[in-house]
Amino acid sequence: LQVVDDLHDKAAHLENRTKELEESNQRDALTGLYNRGHLDEFLENAFKVAGERGEPLSVAFADLDHFKSVNDTHGHQVGDQILVATAKLLEKNTRSADLVARYGGEEFILVFPGSDKALVAMICERIVKALASEKYDFVEDGLSVTISIGYATHGEEMSFNSIDEFVNAADTALYTAKMEGRNRSVEFRKAS
Ligand code: GH3
Ligand code: MG
Ligand code: MG
Repeated sequence: LQVVDDLHDKAAHLENRTKELEESNQRDALTGLYNRGHLDEFLENAFKVAGERGEPLSVAFADLDHFKSVNDTHGHQVGDQILVATAKLLEKNTRSADLVARYGGEEFILVFPGSDKALVAMICERIVKALASEKYDFVEDGLSVTISIGYATHGEEMSFNSIDEFVNAADTALYTAKMEGRNRSVEFRKAS
């Protein structure tokens, strides 16, 4: 029956549209990265699964260096283009099991399920170097921007009681990275 076929088509179309909307709800409009809402959901699950399986979980907090002066010097549109380029670079340097989210402004959070301290250290260092060597040719005379990253690993050596505590640890390490001169990645260490 034609009517039934038409209804099936309509139902399939609606289902696709719903999926598209759900997906775009999880994304940041400028960069296409996951947004904070989805990050919270993902982290909650990853934290639970890591505990259940006894697997490590790492999180990194990344923030572009002196980004205000980039905007002030080259304009907000150039700033936006750099945010988009940074998002691409972060995606390129992580695996599909990892999550890259835009936390706000020029701040990003990366989640690495199953990754121990050594692995996340390597990935963060790779990102710092890759970003610093990028030259943005959409700016006259070219422009380079650097990034600072703090990271923490929830695992055998150190475990966190909550996701807040875990993310705060990465944020603390990021603050250290900024204080130590930016353009670097720093591991969270407990004050002794
Ligand atoms: P620091 O190295 O200490 O991180 O210095 P900073 O200048 O990056 O830090 P600050 O937090 O003072 O400035 C962040 C700037 O990021 C401020 C704002 O102009 C810029 N910014 C935030 N969101 C956006 C955005 O969506 N687009 C653009 N172009 N700029 C943004
Ligand atoms: Mg910032
Ligand atoms: Mg900044």
